[in-house]
Amino acid sequence: MTGRRIETDAVHIARPVDAATGGVAPALVRASTFLHDGQGAGIQGFGYTRYDNPNRQQVERTVARLEGGHEAVAFASGNAASFALLLSAAPGTRVIASRDSYRGTQMVLDTYGTRMGLEVVYADATDLDAMRAAITPEVSLVYVETPTNPLIRIADIAGIAAICREAGALLAVDNTFATPILQRPFEHGADLVVHSATKFMGGHSDLLAGLVVAREAGAALDAIRHWQKYGGAVPAPDVCWLLGRSLATLPVRMHQQCANAMQVAEALAEHPAISEVLHAGLPSHPGHALAMRQMSHGGAVFSFRVRAGREAAIATTLATQLCRCATSLGGVETLIEHRQSQDGVDSNTPPDLIRISIGLEHPADLIADLDQALTR
Ligand SMILES: *Cc1c(COP(=O)(O)O)cnc(C)c1O
Repeated sequence: MTGRRIETDAVHIARPVDAATGGVAPALVRASTFLHDGQGAGIQGFGYTRYDNPNRQQVERTVARLEGGHEAVAFASGNAASFALLLSAAPGTRVIASRDSYRGTQMVLDTYGTRMGLEVVYADATDLDAMRAAITPEVSLVYVETPTNPLIRIADIAGIAAICREAGALLAVDNTFATPILQRPFEHGADLVVHSATKFMGGHSDLLAGLVVAREAGAALDAIRHWQKYGGAVPAPDVCWLLGRSLATLPVRMHQQCANAMQVAEALAEHPAISEVLHAGLPSHPGHALAMRQMSHGGAVFSFRVRAGREAAIATTLATQLCRCATSLGGVETLIEHRQSQDGVDSNTPPDLIRISIGLEHPADLIADLDQALTR
């Protein structure tokens, strides 16, 4: 059916009626294998759960629809999805990655990219001139993240896509922070989208999963599907069922968490203990204009800097009572962390920086909690 809004499809593709019983929630199909016709073909289209599974298919179809892509391929984590993405690049070619990409992604690129015969080069994805200089004919894949972690810097997806097209490289965007509710990279010319579904898509800090979405059929998608099938880092049906349940509420959670985050960010921007708030929805943010062009909202994750420095920032994350001191993001509960401690001493993260992922608590309660932690 065409013309339906994504809120509708998020509910109905993720949660089809169970054909066998009429249940209005899908059945959890834990079966590892399915009846064959005697010649290797599954009677109802499914053969073996590593290859395909009804719950996994529900998730893949929903995410493909949300992103406006051709197909999505699900993995056991976001990192497994990034690993699979690299396999779409031909050995002997070069991969450009954004300099401040997720640390786990850098680990995959640095350790396994090289073993796959790829030359990995980092460039500042927020600087189009730097990207133009880096993207040469040897480059087969460009992998950027926007907004970035933890500085919430914004890369121009359409600008980078145009440079990639000229050089014959594919552009992949890690859309974990924005989700397709705020940003749809295919509309700006990206070829592939990567997700850690552990974050907003799962949304309840209780599962790990990842996906790669392809805008169209072709060799890259075939390579990623092949790795899903034989590399075998697939999500269990139980995880897919939970993720499908979560995807139905992704649009409404995202809208509310973003609205809450904006209120908290505006309150913190006025707070005397804070020197800077890095939220793409604030006009003071250097990437604000670009963010407003390619995103529908600045997001629910942002960072702020504590005037009194590193120790005070760490103490603040421990003094909150509602905001939980833990890494990760995108859940219904607000999480707060001293980011440099997470990134390690060699990171470029300012020592006084705190990252916060705003959940579904009332923003006034969060503001009060942060205020008491900052002014003890
Ligand atoms: C968490 C995260 C990942 C990795 O996902 P996992 O599910 O933890 O493996 C990749 N990219 C971004 C932007 C992330 O935040």
